[in-house]
Amino acid sequence: MTRPCRHLVVVLGDQLNRDASAFDGFDPTQDRVWMCETTEESTHVWSSQQRIVQFLSAMRHFAAALRAAGLPLDYQHLREGGLGDALVEAIATWRPQRVRLTQPGDWRVLQALRVAVGATPLDVLEDRHFLCSNARFAAHVRGKRSLRMEFFYREMRREHGILMEGRQPCGGDWNFDADNREAFGPNGPGFLPPPSRFEPDGITQEVIELVRTRFTDHPGQAAPFGWPVTREQALAAMQVFIDERLEHFGRWQDAMWTGEPWLYHAHLAAALNLKLLDPREVIAAAESAWREGRVPLASAEGFIRQILGWREYVRGIYWLKMPDYADMNALDAHENLPAWYWTGDTPMQCLADAIGQTLQHGYAHHIQRLMVTGLFALLFGVEPRQVHGWYLSVYVDAVEWVELPNTLGMSQYADGGLLASKPYIASGRYIDRMSDHCRGCRFDPGERTGERACPFTTLYWDFLIRHEVRFASHPRLALQVKNLARLAPTERSAIQARASEVRAGRQG
Ligand code: FAD
Ligand code: SF4
Repeated sequence: MTRPCRHLVVVLGDQLNRDASAFDGFDPTQDRVWMCETTEESTHVWSSQQRIVQFLSAMRHFAAALRAAGLPLDYQHLREGGLGDALVEAIATWRPQRVRLTQPGDWRVLQALRVAVGATPLDVLEDRHFLCSNARFAAHVRGKRSLRMEFFYREMRREHGILMEGRQPCGGDWNFDADNREAFGPNGPGFLPPPSRFEPDGITQEVIELVRTRFTDHPGQAAPFGWPVTREQALAAMQVFIDERLEHFGRWQDAMWTGEPWLYHAHLAAALNLKLLDPREVIAAAESAWREGRVPLASAEGFIRQILGWREYVRGIYWLKMPDYADMNALDAHENLPAWYWTGDTPMQCLADAIGQTLQHGYAHHIQRLMVTGLFALLFGVEPRQVHGWYLSVYVDAVEWVELPNTLGMSQYADGGLLASKPYIASGRYIDRMSDHCRGCRFDPGERTGERACPFTTLYWDFLIRHEVRFASHPRLALQVKNLARLAPTERSAIQARASEVRAGRQG
């Protein structure tokens, strides 16, 4: 029988950071690290093959680094079932005095582990990766009638002295979006700096084979795979972004172009969410690039706002509102997710492009997620839980604390406006303005009825009709709703008839 250990330190697949609080006071002579791959983490939602490779490969590389550093480690290779059952067995084997765990990124996992430890004391420790603790976020929301990311972001800037000159924001303003968010011209983006891709080593190749055999029917493909899976690779990817793409990040942040998945984005979300990178070092690198005159303030500020603002804010909302948040459905949406979300097989060019690259790389940038795949699901009226299941499955950076508020709140307005101040709705004309997709599409973004009507445009008007009463006096949507007054009753009926065809998949 093995000698009982003092602490069993549980490290989850998105906690690959040696500085995490669960390692505080770790004593290799008395303590043991436990890591475990389970099928349930890849099947509770139908995880894409890229996402599974990302998590398992990064976990195995982290385990190798722990072993090399001499830490005693019990690493369970892919086993059937869930984390809870596996932990019950580990506790029976190691008989720890305490189980220690950094706060997980998923409410479901935390509950399962709490049950699994039984009578063994469990320490759930603050996740210091984030700049804003749950307690700090609770203090931010206390007494506020409405919450807005912008005010939270300003507090974070002041509190952490980021992009500040004394008490004032650098450049005299908190937000420079007026200088950002252009579309590419008719000739497209021109030369694009290549993204950082990393050749799979032996560990990753083994994982790719495992995923191909064990998760054959899962969406997308396991290879080619080029995401960072170690801290060294993540740091290298960050540096390349700062040196080659940050300069133009702000300007082209919202632009899209057919067949160009990477553009000027950072592609760092997975490395951040698996904790291979610390948000402070990413923010500091962007701020230094501006202070050294290498990038414009609008780009540095726009980028920092995503990490210091949105990323911290959605995490705060998640832990504040779970578990009820996941069941919210303010717009009473009950359609099923169209089956082609899992294949990209649709004549709608913008969706085919965004879903195609998603399945191939496990990646799409924010506007593709919000204003293409998310917008279509919102206008179509898909049940928010199904939309959430899709986003959690397909992206390499998908962890529930960040995915759920973005999907349910920002993209589907299912929380009734807690996260977003209005539903992000638009017709096909928005996509036409921000991309070249409509040029190659059989539909016309300017048409709302008839055979060539763009389904986004039809469903946009149908959304306004369906929710006319709810949003008639909404401060940010009333103007859009007012446009309904211009429609003759026959036009309204034609829109609704066409919307029914789109929902039945008969748009042509
Ligand atoms: P960039 O555009 O280069 O942005 C830089 C960094 O800022 C990102 O790496 C990310 O860490 C952070 N960031 C940017 N926007 C957000 C945001 N809205 N919320 C939180 N962090 C942000 N992000 C995830 O990390 N995981 C998800 O599962 C996820 N699901 C999403 C689902 C929907 C419906 C929407 C609309 C957005 C989602 N996002 C998610 C936010 C955002 O789209 C991604 O973080 C971003 O596209 C990742 O690509 P990037 O690293 O190139 O980011
Ligand atoms: Fe998408 Fe409509 Fe444009 Fe086609 S016409 S690419 S469906 S927005």
